[in-house]
Amino acid sequence: MVVGSIGRHVRYAFTTRDGGVSHPPYASLNLSSQVGDDAGAVAANRERVRVRLGVPAIVWQRAEHGGRVCVVDALRDRAAEPSADGLIVLAPGCAVAALAADCVLFVLADRAGRAVGVGHCGWRGLLAGIVGAVVDGVRAAAGDGAPLHAVLGPAICGSCYAVGPEVYAAVTGTVPAAAARTLSGRLALDVAAGVAAQLRDHGVVIDNRIGGCTYEDAAFFSYRRDGVTGRHAVLAWLEP
Ligand SMILES: [Zn+2]
Repeated sequence: MVVGSIGRHVRYAFTTRDGGVSHPPYASLNLSSQVGDDAGAVAANRERVRVRLGVPAIVWQRAEHGGRVCVVDALRDRAAEPSADGLIVLAPGCAVAALAADCVLFVLADRAGRAVGVGHCGWRGLLAGIVGAVVDGVRAAAGDGAPLHAVLGPAICGSCYAVGPEVYAAVTGTVPAAAARTLSGRLALDVAAGVAAQLRDHGVVIDNRIGGCTYEDAAFFSYRRDGVTGRHAVLAWLEP
């Protein structure tokens, strides 16, 4: 697990496969309740992460591959599991978490710590505008003019993510920066490059990129590599 900060009040963490109780094909730190893993194992894994990070609660997303953002009330929504690809929290009291196995995970905040958001973005999310939706939500809370900072997590790279011609045309027609080729020359997408371009287009400063290619690095879950598998996470929270 990698833990970091944006400014003095915003903390984030990116998990790996390591440190959980799930059995194969979810071994071991699967954090998704949506992939067929044992519910008790997922709950135990989530509790391990909560204790490790020292946060009072975590609100976990149910990913939809769309553009919907949910603003979480840190006290009211602790037991919720919202169906949304972006989660934003505006006050200390709980962390928000987004899940992926190849898709791009990102965290976004103002350095003063008025709001923090996390998101999950694959090629559908690039088209659905999830990046802009999280930016708009955080900016609305942070106030106009506050510079926003982002950190990107591990994701399948452009050399590993071959796609068909229809998907390639649809995505690169909207987000040219996502265009890529595999080593053998097949059409491919670099979703992280697309997310980075969309963040910059919205005026966001990218502080860091953490982790490498999920398909190549067995430290991460990869849907493209393994099919039935778990999900790693980005978590973020505000400290008082
Ligand atoms: Zn790769």
